[in-house]
Amino acid sequence: MASVFSKIKQAYQLFKHIDIEKFEHLASKVDLGAVMENVSHMDDVQLAGLMKMLGKGSHKDKPLPPIEGDFYHLGHALTPEERTLQLKVREVMETEIKPLINEYWLKAEFPFEIIPMLAKLNICGGTYQGYGCPGLSHTVEGMIAMEIARVDTSVCTFFGVQSGLAMGSIYLLGSEAQKQEWLPAMQQMTKIGAFGLTEPEVGSAVAAGLTMQAKRNGDTWVLNGQKKWIGNSTFADVIIIWAKDVGDGQVKGFLVRKGSPGLAVKKIEDKMALRIVQNGIITLTNCEVVESDRLANANSYKDTASVLRMTRAGVAWQAVGCARGAYESALKYTRERKQFGRPIASFQLIQNHLVEMLTNLTAMQTMVFRLSQLQQEGKITDEHASLAKVFCSLRTRDIVSKAREVMGGNGILLEHDVARFVADAEAIYSYEGTKEINTLIVGRAITGSSAFV
Ligand SMILES: Cc1cc2nc3c(=O)[nH]c(=O)nc-3n(C[C@H](O)[C@H](O)[C@H](O)COP(=O)(O)OP(=O)(O)OC[C@H]3O[C@@H](n4cnc5c(N)ncnc54)[C@H](O)[C@@H]3O)c2cc1C
Repeated sequence: MASVFSKIKQAYQLFKHIDIEKFEHLASKVDLGAVMENVSHMDDVQLAGLMKMLGKGSHKDKPLPPIEGDFYHLGHALTPEERTLQLKVREVMETEIKPLINEYWLKAEFPFEIIPMLAKLNICGGTYQGYGCPGLSHTVEGMIAMEIARVDTSVCTFFGVQSGLAMGSIYLLGSEAQKQEWLPAMQQMTKIGAFGLTEPEVGSAVAAGLTMQAKRNGDTWVLNGQKKWIGNSTFADVIIIWAKDVGDGQVKGFLVRKGSPGLAVKKIEDKMALRIVQNGIITLTNCEVVESDRLANANSYKDTASVLRMTRAGVAWQAVGCARGAYESALKYTRERKQFGRPIASFQLIQNHLVEMLTNLTAMQTMVFRLSQLQQEGKITDEHASLAKVFCSLRTRDIVSKAREVMGGNGILLEHDVARFVADAEAIYSYEGTKEINTLIVGRAITGSSAFV
C-alpha cells in the first residue's frame, strides 16, 4: 500500500510541471509511448544535444549580431571627424535618398531633388584644396563613395562624374579663371558637369586616337564629332569634351557650355544598369568654343589620363559600396526568411555563401583603403588604381550574384534592393576601363612589356 502511495506521489511531482493541454495536443500528433521509450535510452550527451536542439526555437529574444559589412572596422581607422561625416552620409542616403530610388530607377529618370540633399553634406570636390572644397583625405573620400554606392550605385555614379571626372578635369587642368568660374558653383552643386571622352566607335582605345576633331580658327575652336555614354550630359551646365587638335594631333579638353549652338544631346534609352544615370550621345556640329574655354593645361592624352588615374580609385570604392549593399541586404534577408521552420541563415550552405561574400568584401575594402593611403601620400600609379578597379569590380559581380542567389526568387525583385545591385555591377565592371584594359595596364607594369595590341 505504501509503495502505491509513493508511486502516486512521484506521478504527482512529475505531472505538476506538465501542461495537460499541451500534453494532449502532443499525444494527438505523435506516439508518446514510442517517444518516451526512445528518449529513455538516450545517454547524457544525446539528451544534452536534444535539449539544445529543442531550445533553439525558444531563444527568440536573443539579440542577433549587427549587420555589418565593415568586418575589419576600417571605418574606425578614420579620424573622429571623418567617421562622423561617413555616418552622416549614410544617414542621408538611407533616410532621405533611398526611399526615392526604386521608383526613379524603374522610370529611368533622374531624381533632381537629391542634388540639394547631397550638396548640404559638403562632400563635393572632396579632396580639392580651395574653391570652397572641403579638403578631405582620400580615405574618407573613398568611404563616402562607398556609403553612397552602398545605397545606390547610380547616385554614386552621378556624384562621381560631378565631383571626380568633371570637377577633377578643371581642378587638375584648368586655368585659374576657369577654376574660379566653375569649381565653387560645382562644389555647391548649383552647376552640374559631365565628362565626354568615349565615342561611339572609340571606347577602350581612346588613348590610341579620338575621332572628335577640334580646329582652331583665331580665338575660337570648332568642334565636330560624337561622344557616347556621357553621364549627366542631358542636363549638365558644362561638358568637358576631349577632342583631337587637327593642328598638332594632340588631345585637348574643352568646356562646352549648355545650350551652345551646334551641341545636341540624345538620352540613351533602355539601359539595364544604372538606370537613374542620364547617359547621352553627344553630337557636336561646328560647335564653337572660345579659346578661354579650352582647358588651359590639357596638352595631350597624358593629361586626360591624369584625371582618370585619380577617379579610377573612386570607381574601385564604388564597387565596394555596391557589393557591401548587396551583402548586407542578403544577410538581413537570410536571417528573416524561414524555410523548413528555420531561418535560412542557419543552413550551412547559405552560411558558406555569406562568408565567401564577406571574405571578398573584406579583401576589397582593405585593398581600396590602402590604395587611398597611397593616393594621400602622392604615390599612387596607374597600375595601383587599375589593379584595384579590376579586382573590386570582378569580385563585386560575384558578391551581387551570390546575394541574389541566397534570396531565391525575391532576389530579382526591386523591393529587396539586390536586383538593382546585380544590374548596376555590370556597368561598374565596364566603365572607367574594362577588366581587359586595366589588366593590360597592370600587366605592362609588372612585365615591362605592353600587350595592348
Ligand atoms: C553606364 C556607363 C556610363 C559611362 N559613362 C561615361 C562617361 O560619363 N564618360 C565617358 O567618357 N565614358 C563613359 N562610359 C564609357 C566607358 O568608359 C566605356 O564603355 C568603356 O571604356 C569601354 O568601352 P566600350 O564600351 O566602347 O567597349 P570596347 O572598347 O568596344 O570593348 C569591348 C570589349 O573588348 C575588350 N577589348 C578592347 N580592347 C582590347 C584589347 N586591346 N585587348 C583585349 N580586350 C580588349 C574590352 O575589354 C571589352 O571587353 C560609360 C559607360 C557605361 C556603360
